[in-house]
Amino acid sequence: MLAKILTFGLLTSLKLCALIQARPTQDAIDAIKSDDVVCKESCSTICPLGHERDENGCLICGKCNIRGMFEGDIIIGNENSYHQLLTVVGVKTRTRRAAQKNNEWPKTGDNVNIGYVFDDSVSRKAKRRVMRAIQEYNKHTCIRFVPKTSQQTYLKIYAGDQCSSYVGKVLPRGGQDMFVGDCSVGSIMHELMHAVGFWHEHTRPDRDNFVAIKWANLAKEHEISIRKLNPTEWDKLDSPYDYNSIMHYPSYAYGYTSEGEPVMTDKMGEEILAQRTRFSTEDIRQINRKYDCPARYLGGRSSPEISTKPMPSARTTSKPLAQKSSCKNTVSNCERLVRLGGCEKGNVLYLYMKMSCKRSCQMC
Ligand SMILES: [Zn+2]
Repeated sequence: MLAKILTFGLLTSLKLCALIQARPTQDAIDAIKSDDVVCKESCSTICPLGHERDENGCLICGKCNIRGMFEGDIIIGNENSYHQLLTVVGVKTRTRRAAQKNNEWPKTGDNVNIGYVFDDSVSRKAKRRVMRAIQEYNKHTCIRFVPKTSQQTYLKIYAGDQCSSYVGKVLPRGGQDMFVGDCSVGSIMHELMHAVGFWHEHTRPDRDNFVAIKWANLAKEHEISIRKLNPTEWDKLDSPYDYNSIMHYPSYAYGYTSEGEPVMTDKMGEEILAQRTRFSTEDIRQINRKYDCPARYLGGRSSPEISTKPMPSARTTSKPLAQKSSCKNTVSNCERLVRLGGCEKGNVLYLYMKMSCKRSCQMC
């Protein structure tokens, strides 16, 4: 499983890096196209998706790109989503009330019915993976992804060559694009969670209490994508910081120092592996709290029809970690973390320990 996680992390980061590096508009790019033209290497204005360029390939500091990908898999493709991005990264501000209600899907009775249609490009295999991801939402939340009927706004699911989605409902009506590529069930769950209205866990405004970033080693192209969310745009939803969230990025995503140290680590300096196999308990709680789902979903419990099953098998899309991997630690400083109380439920390190220090915590 570790190998799988590592592979996932590596692939994710490679995809992420490839994507970020493929973006044509980075401030840091030296865009000198001819001997006669000297371009600015950067602009003082903040453009989350980079600046437009003139015919010489030089940055136009007054003009931002308004379409593109943010943090690797978040689609910014229309005016509403771009405005949302500006507020989320703190370039613009609006009221908390407007922020919270802006991108939520409408609720009907107890459930939130989000319609979807598959584009012809989506293979049967990919459809099956999407359905498995949807089943996880059905089990654990009041979100129901349903074949489109009368919904004014709905998800239009394409194959594409990677997983990506908008954050929340960004269109007043019509099909909102989402891409599922050859992504795993867990990665599709991640994208659906974006579609439901969530950003990446490691961009929470309180993340500096839990994540360490070697700023001096951070590549310039990652600076904007590692910004914290604007506090007025974010609701904690009573959830503690969650290394185990399906929405957390692995350390790999932000690269390494020349000494081979990850640029982003936990506060103990350990790599964050991240997972894309299942909802964490806090993921489930946050989704249900965001949409005021019925009480039976809160507390991270599964839906009534499967609530009698043991939580691990009910909560995973594949076999749980403990069954797949042998009983070992996967990071080197477990003993130190044990002394800090990491094995105790409620400790901020607990979920991380559950994933990385099973042996030391006697969890297997
Ligand atoms: Zn994402």
